[in-house]
Amino acid sequence: MRVVIAGAGLAGLSCAKYLIDAGHTPIVLERRDVLGGLVAAWKDSDGDWYETGLHAFFGAYPNMLQLFKELGIEDRLQWKEHTLIFNQPDKPGTLSRFDVPDIPAPFNIIASILRNNDMLTWEQKIRFAIGLLPAIVRGQKYVEEMDKYSFSDWLKRQGVGERVASDVFIAASKALTFINPDEVSSTILLTALNRFLQERYGSKIAFLDGSPTERLCQPIVDYITERGGEVRLNAPLKEILLNPDGTVKGFLLRGLNGEPDEEVTADFYVSAISVDPLKVMLPEPWKQMEFFQKLEGLEGVPVINLHLWFDRKLTDIDHLLFSRSPLLSVYADMSNTCREYANPSRSMLELVLAPAKDWISKSDEEIVWATMAELEKLFPDHFKGDNPAKLLKSHVVKTPRSVYKATPGRQQYRPPQQTPVANFFLSGSYTMQRYLGSMEGAVLSGKLTAQAISDSLRGDNGAIATSVANSSNLQTLTRPPATNAATA
Ligand SMILES: Cc1cc2nc3c(=O)[nH]c(=O)nc-3n(C[C@H](O)[C@H](O)[C@H](O)COP(=O)(O)OP(=O)(O)OC[C@H]3O[C@@H](n4cnc5c(N)ncnc54)[C@H](O)[C@@H]3O)c2cc1C
Repeated sequence: MRVVIAGAGLAGLSCAKYLIDAGHTPIVLERRDVLGGLVAAWKDSDGDWYETGLHAFFGAYPNMLQLFKELGIEDRLQWKEHTLIFNQPDKPGTLSRFDVPDIPAPFNIIASILRNNDMLTWEQKIRFAIGLLPAIVRGQKYVEEMDKYSFSDWLKRQGVGERVASDVFIAASKALTFINPDEVSSTILLTALNRFLQERYGSKIAFLDGSPTERLCQPIVDYITERGGEVRLNAPLKEILLNPDGTVKGFLLRGLNGEPDEEVTADFYVSAISVDPLKVMLPEPWKQMEFFQKLEGLEGVPVINLHLWFDRKLTDIDHLLFSRSPLLSVYADMSNTCREYANPSRSMLELVLAPAKDWISKSDEEIVWATMAELEKLFPDHFKGDNPAKLLKSHVVKTPRSVYKATPGRQQYRPPQQTPVANFFLSGSYTMQRYLGSMEGAVLSGKLTAQAISDSLRGDNGAIATSVANSSNLQTLTRPPATNAATA
């Protein structure tokens, strides 16, 4: 079957990959001249990469890790020490670590929390452990029910002090969703905590060894095109054309550089574009349908990614760092963490600025200036005194609408991959899957879409149904994620 997919982010590419595995022919149409959507990256005139986002991979990403394996590129993930590292705002320049010992979950995480006395008092640890019990005992059902509360409200209800929210979970909340604990749905943080508590290597972090566009997206494209599929850049979906019965007749592509518009037809159609442009593009008759009306409950959240090149080394830490700063979220010295960006004598900090709603319309200069002021607290030794570190150059990448804003009550608006329109499907990390707005969520959503297309054929076409059922890659779709044996 021929399947046209709009959007070459990780969801669209993963969908195409798993459709190929099931014997179909995907054609991916990407609006921009770069692959990857929110993982897209570019090279500047000096040959230095800059990215839409600082991306960390977790051991608790079974579908992503399986994809790396299937593509034969597992060696591109650079696994770091099993630890989570936080800045201590009240002690500038110092760090606090949650070192996770190599023992079975959840004892490894419990041990890491018990051994860290910088960030939580014993009373807070005990209160938090008790507060977490319903999530551990009742599992995902309880976690989903808690979507009605912000994480700050949930902590209050569980009798855990406000300080825990500001001290520890501001970092986790901003890292996972780019918003603060008083805004984020508790389902998000409880889901992540549950995964970390259940999987021995779930909280272990890896960095890709180069740019996601080249080192992750391109191998997926090669896999697709070598097997008869197609991926087209500069191919923006302009309109979804309908048949009289409301099913899709074709995708109309906007002609660029004076070229005429082009209609692309197929047996099935997938939107793997983010939710905000999709809402704008919905055909009028679909706007009357409750399924599509629900999309109004979702919108992308702003975030900013900064790259700062310095004249010297600021740190030798080869890991993700949680800044716990009001301005910044996570950051890393990419000259240490990423093979292709490596530099033994100069640091390149990649930093996520979040929440970004008050910053997104400011100039790059203002954003860099505010970040530099923050760095004086993170690296006081290098920015105070007679010979402060010099900023050589910077790149600021603003994304006004990134992953869906995970405020309380959003779960009910996240659509399944199958829609009421027989030949139209959705993919994207905003669609309903258990891994939230993440790379893992995007890859899983693409897989689920491929599965939904194959399922929809099962009734009509026994031959295709058989080939799908026999596909080893697709068989894993309905299984819960297995524990990962990610190694350093
Ligand atoms: C700053 C930042 C940091 C992040 N850090 C992490 C992290 O550490 N770990 C993690 O797991 N996740 C992280 N994420 C989230 C992760 O990047 C996303 O969840 C994931 O990449 C989303 O993939 P997607 O395919 O669902 O959507 P997108 O990547 O948004 O893809 C949608 C695609 O559709 C295209 N498109 C839009 N309109 C059209 C059109 N009309 N026609 C054709 N194509 C169109 C877009 O150009 C884009 O390529 C981060 C995101 C950001 C922004």
